[in-house]
Amino acid sequence: MVAFEDVSKRFAAGRTSAEVTALDGVGLTVPRGSVTGIIGRSGAGKSTLIRLVNGLEKPSSGRVVVDGVNIAELDEKKLRDVRRSIGMIFQHFNLLSSRTAFDNIALPLEIAGIDRQTIEKRVTPLLDLVGLSDKRNRYPSELSGGQKQRIGIARALATEPKLLLSDEATSALDPETTRSILALLKTINKELGLTVLLITHEMEVIKTIADHVAVIDGGCIVEQGPTFDVFTGHTHATTRSLLGGLA
Ligand code: ATP
Ligand code: MG
Repeated sequence: MVAFEDVSKRFAAGRTSAEVTALDGVGLTVPRGSVTGIIGRSGAGKSTLIRLVNGLEKPSSGRVVVDGVNIAELDEKKLRDVRRSIGMIFQHFNLLSSRTAFDNIALPLEIAGIDRQTIEKRVTPLLDLVGLSDKRNRYPSELSGGQKQRIGIARALATEPKLLLSDEATSALDPETTRSILALLKTINKELGLTVLLITHEMEVIKTIADHVAVIDGGCIVEQGPTFDVFTGHTHATTRSLLGGLA
């Protein structure tokens, strides 16, 4: 579904001529239909990696291939089409406070120019899927963190994507709410057949939901494979330290 082929990403560092290497020769495969987790410490390059998938950043070298297409080679229009086939959820939910739950979910459909009747037909079952039919006319300020993230998930699904990207989607939530959001993501993966790429610094998240995992450290993937193998195999020092008492 997604393949990183020897991808490096360097950023210019402010006014100095020095560069920051955020990613350094990353090779990574996200199997179709999988929940693949990327785990690493703060600054390891996780967000950069995920932003390359929907073309928010371009690689300095190497290729990011989504569904057989090299993202860097697309013109603006094609890139927009690809983005529509990718949903994204965020740590701070990124809901618009002036819009109701329904209208937040409807937003990507409005942007795509879809008529009101179709929007109604699309959004109502999504509210049901995330268990918030009774909150359709509520504003974000009237919702709990977990409920906000459920709306964020429904919004990400509105354009019927094939791939869902999640950047620390549970790190602002308490452990119990985190578990319920992860269970919802697993249901979406299983029932809608969505491929999920999620990044986190929490090993517990990986353990609960991911069937594949890659460990990133200093912009390099130091380990990847089926979660069970990575957890039980001869692990890299970074993996061991991230595992902490969990293993
Ligand atoms: P966190 O867990 O704190 O969110 P992360 O693993 O997501 O961290 P990234 O945001 O990918 O880390 O950043 C990786 C490195 O690239 C960091 O050193 C960061 O400072 C640098 N970086 C990221 N974006 C930019 C940018 N736009 N300009 C300059 N440097 C950047
Ligand atoms: Mg990040």
